[in-house]
Amino acid sequence: MIRQFELVERVQSYDPEADEDMLNRAYVYGLKKHGTQLRASGDPYFSHPVEVAGILAEMRLDTSSIVTGLLHDTIEDTDATREEIAGLFGENIARLVDGVTKLSRLEVQSESTKEAENLRKLVLAMSSDIRVLLVKLADRLHNMRTLRHIKEPARRRRIARETMDLYAPLASRIGMEKVKRELEELAFAELNPDGRASVLARLGYLKEKGEQIVPQIEAELTKTLLEGGLEAQVSGREKTPHSIWRKMQQKNVSFEQLADIMAFRIIVSDVAQCYQALGLLHGSYQVLPQRFKDYISVPKPNGYRSLHTGVIGPLGQRIEIQIRTAEMQDQAERGVAAHWIYKQGGPSTDAPQYAWLRSLIEILDKAPNAEEFLEHTKLEMFQDQVFCFTPKGKLIALPRGATPIDFAYAVHSQVGDTCVGAKINGRMLPLRTQLSNGDQIEIVTSKAQTPSPTWERFAVTGKAKAAIRRFIRIRQREQYLQLGRSLLDKAFHEEGYEVTDKGLADVKANFKHATTDDLVAAVGAGLVGAREVLTAVYPGLKQKQQRKSGADIVPISRARNKATKAREARGQTESGQIAITGLIPGMAVHFARCCHPLPGDRIVGIITTGKGVTIHTIDCATLESFSDAPERWIDVGWDSVGEGEAAYTGRLKITVANQPGSLSSLSTVIARHEGNISNLRIVNRSMDFFDMVIDVEVADVKHLADITAALRATPAINAVERARN
Ligand code: MN
Repeated sequence: MIRQFELVERVQSYDPEADEDMLNRAYVYGLKKHGTQLRASGDPYFSHPVEVAGILAEMRLDTSSIVTGLLHDTIEDTDATREEIAGLFGENIARLVDGVTKLSRLEVQSESTKEAENLRKLVLAMSSDIRVLLVKLADRLHNMRTLRHIKEPARRRRIARETMDLYAPLASRIGMEKVKRELEELAFAELNPDGRASVLARLGYLKEKGEQIVPQIEAELTKTLLEGGLEAQVSGREKTPHSIWRKMQQKNVSFEQLADIMAFRIIVSDVAQCYQALGLLHGSYQVLPQRFKDYISVPKPNGYRSLHTGVIGPLGQRIEIQIRTAEMQDQAERGVAAHWIYKQGGPSTDAPQYAWLRSLIEILDKAPNAEEFLEHTKLEMFQDQVFCFTPKGKLIALPRGATPIDFAYAVHSQVGDTCVGAKINGRMLPLRTQLSNGDQIEIVTSKAQTPSPTWERFAVTGKAKAAIRRFIRIRQREQYLQLGRSLLDKAFHEEGYEVTDKGLADVKANFKHATTDDLVAAVGAGLVGAREVLTAVYPGLKQKQQRKSGADIVPISRARNKATKAREARGQTESGQIAITGLIPGMAVHFARCCHPLPGDRIVGIITTGKGVTIHTIDCATLESFSDAPERWIDVGWDSVGEGEAAYTGRLKITVANQPGSLSSLSTVIARHEGNISNLRIVNRSMDFFDMVIDVEVADVKHLADITAALRATPAINAVERARN
């Protein structure tokens, strides 16, 4: 176990400004908290966080990361709390330790490799501070190094599998190739010991055979470069057993065919020399086609830069060569962790896919010190997504802002259609609740439930929206059919006739409908008048004059739109449709602009061509024009369940004295009574008075009456009345 002063010295060796006091306090705190706990190996538990801190020191990370390493298991495994850590080490450290703890809790949730990619994204999304991820990787690395001490083979395998599928790719993603290689090798040894043994045996045999070859080729390559005037460091290296194994699997080639079992790395001092070395090698040896890759001009997404090429080497065998600078080498090994050391001249990463890395480097350039760099380094990747779990641990990725409705439809459209509620992390919460990363969602369903039009407001995925719309369309058609049938019955009965299928079938073509159902639905939707159908079936009735509908109520939908917008702006639900009784649910409803009905007014519904039902006040003059068409009248009332929020537009005609301040006292009175002026129009102006019409958003007719009374009591206001037409 690394001793306290050793750890501090190691950190100070690369960071002279490290907070020695904080490191010492964290060491002592961790030691005390873990107390007599033991690891599977029999070592004191605290040796683990200390080793993790040691790995982080090897990565040359800042004090906060090292301290987080020392404390990373205290919340999970001891009686330490986030609050206590915040009090002793500051909010910053508490946040980091908490982040690592949350990541650790993720592990147990899923064992399916299919979900690995989503899990990787989840881990990245949860590591809003990159140090959380770095500490987690160091934690996993030490656990893998000591994996053999765990007795249960199934548990060892699970951890190894997770390392292979989740943590090694994550390390690679942020460019930490050295950590990635070690994680992979350790996991490979656990998951496929036979495969690894065979690769090692074969490697050993080849090495024996070609023992002198590697130094010989090294010397030859060095000489070739020197003759071209280039001094370079050439080193031969072997691929790891796991990478050889994977290549053999992927490319389906035999061991000997693998060109890159022997690979050489050439380190030069700058980018120009990289290309110079490449030219010298390509000029001296036969180039293997398709082996050349320029990751300097176009770095890998994780920031990796190097030139790769393959040639027939000086001794006649195929070799792979990597050419890079020392800085690129360090970057390739340490990835993100390398950035904050190299402040000058980071990788050139102009392509859009390197945006996240570029922003890292930008912060790096601006930050005065390493601590601040890491502090402000946020992994922006996948911040536009949320990842949630089903109760069985299946991971579901959704766009940010998604709600349980989206989740339900993502699970299965049947689940979505019958969804009645959702338990988020065990708590029953509204369906409009926005989901967060790592939430576990249990959808409560009921066979009696059907999708509600209001769901569309808080669904964000296309799948959910489409399913809801489709359902509403189908249901609406059923309702139009039902309504159309009753409207036709009413119109026919008035003249002493019966609606017959034959009668409808005979005239359906007159209305350009293919089926009688289509015609009936069109009547229900108000697109075709019931009386028009009647007179088509019985042309003798035609002479009876029928009023043209529509013309006098064309603009009616506008007022409702405004009210709807007002409601939406306040985040209210659509209540206009459900506040009216006597209608078939789901029918389109509009409030007539001529009379502005308010809850509390006596009202009547008129089937309106192309508009569904229009609601008028019972004393509205417009109604006279429908006296000839009783089949279009519907008995309606207000649902007593109101929202109590201003959402309806009432119109007032007001006469105000033409004097300074009268308009402001008008608006003050309305505002004081919680009305909201949505429109104001001066209709007449004289020397003494203004006549104006104002639209006020109110909750109901009583609310409007209160405002009217208050206005009448205002000295500057002469007359107030409800506007009719
Ligand atoms: Mn740990």
